[in-house]
Amino acid sequence: MTTKLNLNRVAIPKQNPLLRVLNFQEVALGYTEEQAIAEASRCLQCPKRPCVDACPVGIDIPEFLKEVREGNLAEAVRILKAKNSLPAICGRVCPQETQCEAKCSLAKKGAPTAIGRLERYVADWELADIARRRPQFTAPEPSGKSVAVVGAGPAGLTVAADLAKLGHRVVIFEALHVAGGVLVYGIPEFRLPKTIVQAEVEYVQSLGVELALNCVVGKTLSIDELNQDGFQAVFLGTGAGLPMFLNIPGENLSGIYSANEFLTRVNLVNLMKAYLFPDHLTPVNVGERVVVIGGGNVAMDSARCALRLGAYEVRVVYRRSQAEMPARREEVENAEEEGVIFQFLTNPVRFLADDQAQVKAMECVEMELGEPDASGRPRPIPKPNSEFLIETDTVIVALGTTPNPLIPATTQGLETTRKGTVVADKETGLTTRPAVWAGGDLTTGAATVISAMGADKHAAASINAYLTNEAAT
Ligand code: FAD
Ligand code: SF4
Repeated sequence: MTTKLNLNRVAIPKQNPLLRVLNFQEVALGYTEEQAIAEASRCLQCPKRPCVDACPVGIDIPEFLKEVREGNLAEAVRILKAKNSLPAICGRVCPQETQCEAKCSLAKKGAPTAIGRLERYVADWELADIARRRPQFTAPEPSGKSVAVVGAGPAGLTVAADLAKLGHRVVIFEALHVAGGVLVYGIPEFRLPKTIVQAEVEYVQSLGVELALNCVVGKTLSIDELNQDGFQAVFLGTGAGLPMFLNIPGENLSGIYSANEFLTRVNLVNLMKAYLFPDHLTPVNVGERVVVIGGGNVAMDSARCALRLGAYEVRVVYRRSQAEMPARREEVENAEEEGVIFQFLTNPVRFLADDQAQVKAMECVEMELGEPDASGRPRPIPKPNSEFLIETDTVIVALGTTPNPLIPATTQGLETTRKGTVVADKETGLTTRPAVWAGGDLTTGAATVISAMGADKHAAASINAYLTNEAAT
């Protein structure tokens, strides 16, 4: 069959920017059936499948797109879920522009196939009707082996789902009262609705995975105690939840938040519910002018939450230029549409207070770009005598995160790097402690949902090999 080359992708319907800054409902509304078929029909069905190689979990992309084009959505779901247990999440938040879509053959001449949006369309179709959520696998014979997974973020959920499908008993121990990790306490409702995360967690549970919530490993239970309780293997997926700061004068003033604290207050289900403002009164009072420091997804989410909480002027301050911003392109565009102001090549040097020790201004310097640094991006260099002030009521620091040291500090034999990440073999995820694996942000530092899931598929395979070899001896 010859596919007609169509270089323009079908636009996704979105809430009007003027209205959406007044609510926390999802911004992108998803494709209709007609739009999804039209977009899936753009796929060239390339025999070499470059998009598949660029997907960290190896979804059979042309095959699922073909099923969408032909209206066989149940089959499209089956193909997606064979490789990805969290497709409704990945379809919404993966940085497709640097992964599968970057390698799409259509990208050489025009817009790549909208793989992420179609993944979302298929996953949402399944979630829309309970009758469609049929089991995607035949339950295997129980292996008699038990695995403890620590942390219910995307890393832990992926490993747990893969091991449960192989017949092992899996219990996830999660510190919070709700599963999902950053997907529930970090990424806001308008980008990833909590009901979607909950539905995908329920899918993982439907595979037989048990959840033990409100259990802080390293405090409530140690890794030694998990082993004594009969878990032959342990997987650590506790993420990177410790915020980094600027370490400049005035950073402990009132009105200066880490993005972690700010987003957790705004988001977290059953706690502060600031995202349901004004139905639930929130303790986050942002004032009129907000400055967000950083250029990643966390900075974009913080800025857009601040707008929705009533701030009049929200300014993102970033020390490099727009080209180096690590945030998803679509979210930068959404933030621009909503009125977020971007101030590039700017770096804060100190904060100034009013007589109540509340932040009132931020002194900054202008930057210029030099030679590439260790990250491969041009190094930002301060321009001499370029200091200036930005007046503000609230500052949100979104500079990145490192892992919490609790588990390494309470677990013998678990080595960490100077950055606090747990040392784990790149191929298998095995740590320096026998029968303990690790993955996701805990091993890489703050990264992406799909990189956590991709590495963890290898860890699940390695844990399975360990458990089945042990069974054979
Ligand atoms: P986490 O999601 O952090 O999950 C770790 C889990 O472990 C948490 O539930 C935590 O409560 C639990 N835990 C921690 N310590 C313990 C303990 N001692 N005992 C028991 N449980 C414990 N990535 C993208 O791909 N696209 C995006 O658009 C995107 N946007 C983001 C926006 C924000 C605001 C943030 C903060 C991150 C964003 N990311 C995004 C990054 C992405 O969310 C992370 O890379 C991903 O969640 C890492 O998964 P993880 O499972 O390793 O860790
Ligand atoms: Fe389709 Fe693009 Fe993948 Fe080719 S590279 S199979 S056009 S999605």
